[in-house]
Amino acid sequence: MITIAIDGHSSCGKSTMAKNLAKELGYIYIDTGAMYRSVTYYAMQNGMIDAEGKIDTERLQAAMHDIKISFKFNPETGRPDTYLNGERVEDRIRTMDVSSNVSPIATLGFVREAMVAQQREMGKSKGVILDGRDIGTVVFPDAELKIFVTASAEIRAQRRYDELTAKGEQCNYEDILKNVKERDYIDSHREISPLTQAEDAIVLDNSNMTINEQQEWLLKLTKEAVSASE
Ligand code: C5P
Repeated sequence: MITIAIDGHSSCGKSTMAKNLAKELGYIYIDTGAMYRSVTYYAMQNGMIDAEGKIDTERLQAAMHDIKISFKFNPETGRPDTYLNGERVEDRIRTMDVSSNVSPIATLGFVREAMVAQQREMGKSKGVILDGRDIGTVVFPDAELKIFVTASAEIRAQRRYDELTAKGEQCNYEDILKNVKERDYIDSHREISPLTQAEDAIVLDNSNMTINEQQEWLLKLTKEAVSASE
């Protein structure tokens, strides 16, 4: 069993890839973006982010030890759901409101420190797949397989638009494209653990690939990495 790190830009299908692969291999899947989203949702619910997006960092820092994030397998979907302090927040953390506030929250050192510690703990046994921005560079730099996924911003925005409208959320393609570009910028330029490709990561540009093609590609690489580690 190995550790698999899937990093890359927002909305490029990392979590779909990771979830499907975890199901196929019987590995544990950890969606680290859901963890930063949960912290953001907590901050929004507790009035720690104002209408202009300004964060009350002092109150958030003091509250960090009250934020417990966990994942529970949902037999109906065959995938894990995100829980915040015991409450299922899987859908509430995927809204545009949370997406608009999450990247500034993810720049905060004390938030990253707490999340990275939880991720290392959750993933300490092999047989895990994590997706995020800093898995192969910071969280598990020794992961046996590192993938860096990207696709054009327009294609990513279209995918997110399709996903949100399928769930019945009212949204606008231009707003989503703006959000995707903004998050790319903040994620790549922040001081702590910016989104960068690990030197030993394998790049996947899936702009013109179907989910099936992508899955086959990933499974082949995984088999090679597993054999190499034995
Ligand atoms: O992956 P997802 O788009 O759900 O992540 C939401 C946000 O959380 C990202 O835009 C990024 O700002 C932050 N994030 C991060 N480090 C990770 C995972 C996500 O900074 N490992």
